[in-house]
Amino acid sequence: MNRRKFVKNYSIIFLSSFIPKVAVGEEIKAFEITKSKREWKQILTDLEYKVMRKEGTERAYTSPLDKLFDKGIYHCKGCDLPLYSSDHKYNSGTGWPSFWKALPGAIGTKTDKKFFMVRTECHCSRCGSHLGHIFDDGPQPTGKRHCINGVSLRFKKA
Ligand SMILES: [Zn+2]
Repeated sequence: MNRRKFVKNYSIIFLSSFIPKVAVGEEIKAFEITKSKREWKQILTDLEYKVMRKEGTERAYTSPLDKLFDKGIYHCKGCDLPLYSSDHKYNSGTGWPSFWKALPGAIGTKTDKKFFMVRTECHCSRCGSHLGHIFDDGPQPTGKRHCINGVSLRFKKA
C-alpha cells in the first residue's frame, strides 16, 4: 500500500467512527439528525430522555394525548418531524396514544427482543428517537396498532 492510499483508508475509518449508529435489524443505520447525550438532555425532560433515547415506556393513562382527538398533526419531540395525523388516531383503550398508520416515511422499525417478547419497535426516521411499538391488533384498513408514548410527541392543532 502506498502512502496516499494508506492515508485515504485511514481517514475513512477515522471519520466513520464519528457517525452515530443504531442497529436496525441486521443493518447499521445513521440518522440525519444526531445529537450527543448532553445535547439530548438539554432539550428533553428526564422522562422524555428515558423514553425517547433509552427505549423506555411512559406509564399507561398518563399522557394527555391519549384521549385527545382534535384535528392536527403529531410531531417528533426530538426533531419536529411530522409523524402521525389525527385522521389515523383511535382510542385503543390501552392507555397510550394509538394510531393505525404513520405518515409516509415518518418512522423506522426494528425487531425488539427485550423482556422475552418479540415486538416491532418504531422510532422517528429522522432522529431515531424511540416512539413505541407496532402490534397486529389494530383496526382496518391496516390492522396495525401503533402504540406510542405521548411524551415522544408534540401535538400541533390544525
Ligand atoms: Zn425525530
